[in-house]
Amino acid sequence: MSVLVYTESDKGTFKKIALETASYAKTVADQMGTTVTAVTINADDTSVLKNYGVNKVLKVSNKDLDTFNAQRYADVITQACNKEGTKVVILSSSADSKYLAPILAVKLNAGYASNVVDAPSSLEPFTVKRTAFTNKAFNFSKIESDVKIVGVSKNSYGLYENSVELTEEDFSPSIPESGVHQKSINKSSDKVSIADAEIVVSGGRGLKGPENWGMIEELAEVLGAATACSKPVSDLGWRPHSEHVGQTGKPVASNLYIAIGISGAIQHLAGINASKVKVVINNDPEAPFFKAADYGIVGDAFEVVPKLIEKLKEFKAQNA
Ligand code: FAD
Repeated sequence: MSVLVYTESDKGTFKKIALETASYAKTVADQMGTTVTAVTINADDTSVLKNYGVNKVLKVSNKDLDTFNAQRYADVITQACNKEGTKVVILSSSADSKYLAPILAVKLNAGYASNVVDAPSSLEPFTVKRTAFTNKAFNFSKIESDVKIVGVSKNSYGLYENSVELTEEDFSPSIPESGVHQKSINKSSDKVSIADAEIVVSGGRGLKGPENWGMIEELAEVLGAATACSKPVSDLGWRPHSEHVGQTGKPVASNLYIAIGISGAIQHLAGINASKVKVVINNDPEAPFFKAADYGIVGDAFEVVPKLIEKLKEFKAQNA
């Protein structure tokens, strides 16, 4: 009756959230007096999981699962849960896991809590702390079903090293043909996706037009960041909708969020306030974003951003 964690990977490599969900699963397993089993899908080297408290890996290798498909992935996790007799399943709250979680909940007849930010405050009844109203409040939710699914928010719980003995087992669940073909829409290209990025460089209407995005992309490249934008920017067709962040766009929980020429409307802030450090570049000292910022630069983006790129390149060259 181990706690089961689905550890997400991309092209064979674990995402950081995989290690965070493993850390979380270890805490829940300790509370319950049991062990942690991870299910991995086409991950290359699973040994790192032993550093984060995972006792057993069910290793799934199947080229039909190379592309994310919510139905199929939910099938795999369901079969892993049935095999282990699991009562608590830990997922992340990534876009992919949020697609598969409701399907999994139906298959396992389980209750599901998303956007969980802390270890259960109680096991009986099973109670978790979650964000609510686009991160403006917290609530404590009880899951009363026999099987429980917890979706952990990125960067909320943290990574905790906890070395244990790890056993690996090849696991070959049956993969039924899925009628509905759901694919991940996190990435519009091969660039770093907003959901996985540690750093996000985001541009708003202050950049005047799509022709000025070269400097945003260059800054993102120097920093190894993903690019994002405000809603009007994607509505105007300056950038793809996959980059729109905010209340009606994607949530961002990066370590660093750099907002350039974005006013800081409440609907924009709602999507990014889970980010740790916010830097704002805006030529209007009264822009509301400065109130939410950790660091602010009052200045013209067309002067500040090229200088920032230059300094970062110098810094990287000196520290290469
Ligand atoms: P603007 O408000 O036009 O701000 C541009 C900023 O750029 C200004 O602060 C200006 O001072 C600055 N600027 C101008 N020139 C320069 C320069 N040369 N250098 C530096 N700075 C400069 N918005 C979202 O982003 N995401 C959402 O999910 C979202 N959902 C919404 C949902 C609803 C129901 C509604 C009603 C609105 C929503 N909005 C959303 C829209 C939101 O209210 C704002 O209108 C929008 O965020 C403003 O975008 P912006 O800051 O890019 O543009």
